[in-house]
Amino acid sequence: MLKVDSISVYYNNFKALDNVSFEFKKGENISIIGANGSGKTTFLKCLCNILDFKGNVYLDNKNIKNIKRKDLAKKIGILSQIIPINFDFSVFDTVMMGRFIHQDRFFVSNTKEDEEIVINALKTVELLNLKDKNISNLSGGQLQRVFLAKIIAQNPDIILLDEPTNHLDFKYQIELITFLKKWSLKENKTIIGVIHDINLAMLLTDNIIIMENGKIKMYDKSENIIKSNILNSIYNIDIKKYMLDTLKKWDNK
Ligand code: ADP
Repeated sequence: MLKVDSISVYYNNFKALDNVSFEFKKGENISIIGANGSGKTTFLKCLCNILDFKGNVYLDNKNIKNIKRKDLAKKIGILSQIIPINFDFSVFDTVMMGRFIHQDRFFVSNTKEDEEIVINALKTVELLNLKDKNISNLSGGQLQRVFLAKIIAQNPDIILLDEPTNHLDFKYQIELITFLKKWSLKENKTIIGVIHDINLAMLLTDNIIIMENGKIKMYDKSENIIKSNILNSIYNIDIKKYMLDTLKKWDNK
């Protein structure tokens, strides 16, 4: 459904993405991991056409460079890491923004259907009781759930995650990832997620892409990736030893 054909990105003379090709299948969730600067965010930005790139990306056989921004947003949504909020909308209005792309005119009033969709999205993330609160008064975890509700209201086929769990505490990290996994399976959505934490990546998806120096170094099931020990060279530490040493501390009765 999303076919990446030989894409490259240069920032001045620096090649941040180096002739990457890949095919994402419908309903398949994939995590993208790799060291800082390996090109993960640059790759995601190309998938939703918010960055100039060489090569092509096809969504259902259509070149995304020829798809209008609003039409692309009906198909592809993005959940990023929490950013500082310096505007003040209510929770309800923020989630309603997910419906704008489905409305024909700019200053159209919300339909009953839009309102029901927003209410349902807020129920899904268990925030209906905060619907009239201003988003600047929310905790990081609550704010991220508002943006998740916005994506649910937007109802795209593909959700791109750009480190959405950054700045969330443990409980919300695990909750967010567990929710995204369940929801994507139930609604047949495709999730493509840049996730720093390998354990969270494995919680979200069975398959993982590893990036290095602007290229896809490996794509495989997470258990094969762990077995291959490739992560040691990617991150330049003995990850298995670190994980097992940590586990021993937990297991020390
Ligand atoms: P990752 O998400 O894996 O940390 P990025 O895709 O953000 O990596 O960045 C890849 C490389 O491109 C890095 O070396 C980064 O410094 C560089 N880079 C990213 N954005 C810009 C930019 N706007 N201008 C110049 N260099 C950039």
